[in-house]
Amino acid sequence: MIEVSRLAVESTGVGVVRSAGEYRLIATRGVDKGTHLFDIEGELADAPSRYTVQVGLGLHVDLPHRFGVEDVLDRFFWRFMNHSCEPSAVIRGRQVFALGPISPWQEITFHYNSTEYEMAEPFDCRCGSSRCAGQIRGFRFLDRSARERLRPWLADHLLSILDGKVSEPSARAVEPLCR
Ligand SMILES: [Zn+2]
Repeated sequence: MIEVSRLAVESTGVGVVRSAGEYRLIATRGVDKGTHLFDIEGELADAPSRYTVQVGLGLHVDLPHRFGVEDVLDRFFWRFMNHSCEPSAVIRGRQVFALGPISPWQEITFHYNSTEYEMAEPFDCRCGSSRCAGQIRGFRFLDRSARERLRPWLADHLLSILDGKVSEPSARAVEPLCR
C-alpha cells in the first residue's frame, strides 16, 4: 500500500508521491495501452547524470539549470520515473507511452536499460521480478540475448546499435590488447 505524503501534477494525469522513502511517479487516472502519457521536457546535455534520460547517442534530457520545486512537479516530474524490470511505460523519442493498461495509483516506470547506454550511476535493482536484470548499468553492458529481450522497449538509438545500423560506441569500451 502506498502512503501518500505528497501529490501534485493532477491536471496532467500523473502525480508524484513519496512512499517508503522514495519519490514515485504514478498515474492519477486509468489509461489504455498505448496512451501517450507526457513528454520529457528539459535541456539537452551531451553526458548522462543521475537524473538524465537518454534520447539519442550523446544526447540526454536534463533538468534546466534554474527551476523551482513547483516547476519540477508541474513540468519536470519525469525525473521521478523509477526503473522497473517490468515497466509500465516505454519512451519513444521524448514521448512516454503506456505499455499496457495503467490503473489509477499504479506507478509509471520504464526500464533504464531501454534508453541508457551507460549509466552515470549504476545501481542494484531489487524489484523482485523474475525478469529482474540485477545490476542496472546500461545497454552497453548487456550481452546479445539480454539486448534482444529488451528489443520491444528499446529507444531508437539503442535499436540502431542492436541492428548494426550504427557501430557500438567504443570510446570507453576499448580493452587493452593481451597476448
Ligand atoms: Zn529488477
